[in-house]
Amino acid sequence: MAKTNRTKKLSLNTSSILKLFTLFCIVIHMMIAIFSIYTKITPLLVLNLCSILLYIYCIYIVAKHPAKVFYIGFGEIVLHSFISVVLVGNGFGFSMYFIALVPMAFNLLHAAKSNKYILKSFILSIISFVLFAGCYIISNLHTPLYESDILSNLKPYIYIVNMFITFVALLGFSILFLIEIESAYNSLYNKNLELDNLANTDPLTGLYNRRTMTVHVQNMYEDYHKTQKPFSLIVCDIDNFKKFNDTYGHECGDEVLKTISSVLSSLTRGHDFLCRWGGEEFIVFLRNIDREMALNIAERIRQKIEETEIKFEDKNLHITMTFGVSSATETDDYEELFKLADSRMYEGKRSGKNKVV
Ligand code: GH3
Ligand code: MG
Ligand code: MG
Repeated sequence: MAKTNRTKKLSLNTSSILKLFTLFCIVIHMMIAIFSIYTKITPLLVLNLCSILLYIYCIYIVAKHPAKVFYIGFGEIVLHSFISVVLVGNGFGFSMYFIALVPMAFNLLHAAKSNKYILKSFILSIISFVLFAGCYIISNLHTPLYESDILSNLKPYIYIVNMFITFVALLGFSILFLIEIESAYNSLYNKNLELDNLANTDPLTGLYNRRTMTVHVQNMYEDYHKTQKPFSLIVCDIDNFKKFNDTYGHECGDEVLKTISSVLSSLTRGHDFLCRWGGEEFIVFLRNIDREMALNIAERIRQKIEETEIKFEDKNLHITMTFGVSSATETDDYEELFKLADSRMYEGKRSGKNKVV
């Protein structure tokens, strides 16, 4: 009956996402630094060493300044890709990183909770495209600054590596996007559940409230008309509770209400339905139980309540309750069913209390 919380199977916080991104960038720049040593392109080596230092700095500031880390990362990738194309030409695939900048902008700016992130991401995407096209134009207009046999031999391999890194980045941002959706859905679902519980239950005892019980009985009548399987109600009211409160205090009274709700829960079955009907009045809904059986169950509850010791501070207290029972076999109207049990409970009050009628 009660829905359970959806656990956040997939969830990453902003700084974990950005840390992951930063570590990914450090690894890639280490690889490119090795490539620049091997091909003797000193400016590329210097550029990559600076980038590695920049990303190490990002790891330290990411928790406090997530948006700053994003902008540093974005600027670094733009600069690095552009300079690489100027140095070695477009054939190595360094400009492909501009494609990965588009989902990166949307994902990371959203994760960093930057305001107007859609507009900013859109503008950054346009910039990425312009630079992507710019790399193509520049490489057609100018010959690269560095050309050698080693570079020509390595070109197809480096192109595939850059293609692969771009692919991994696109995959990573798609997965991050899914994680964000999943975790937003889960937290919305859990919030709804909380609101549902607040609307349907009594905060003191955790039992269902009057509204939920009324709807339940109405629904059960529909079922009853189809199946003719009986059900019954027990209305229970604490005897002399006002005096009890006056003597021991309201706090002690609250403790009694909680104890009663746990006694009722322990004596009923999973598919029965318990509700705090009003101040010190409870209703037990019994499924597949006719009046005779309900009278027996009510008597069992009455005895158990009478025997139960309620511990409050240094006192051991006892209370009793009076019960009224009605069954769907007696009336076809749900309001009448409540009234019948209620009037029987009052009959029990008038004739001495602590009894089942
Ligand atoms: P009777 O045996 O005829 O039922 O007498 P009674 O005193 O139990 O009934 P009455 O209707 O005169 O008083 C009900 C009392 O229940 C009054 C109120 O102080 C108490 N009560 C209602 N809700 C709460 C609650 O949430 N906490 C506490 N501690 N007391 C409550
Ligand atoms: Mg009472
Ligand atoms: Mg009452």
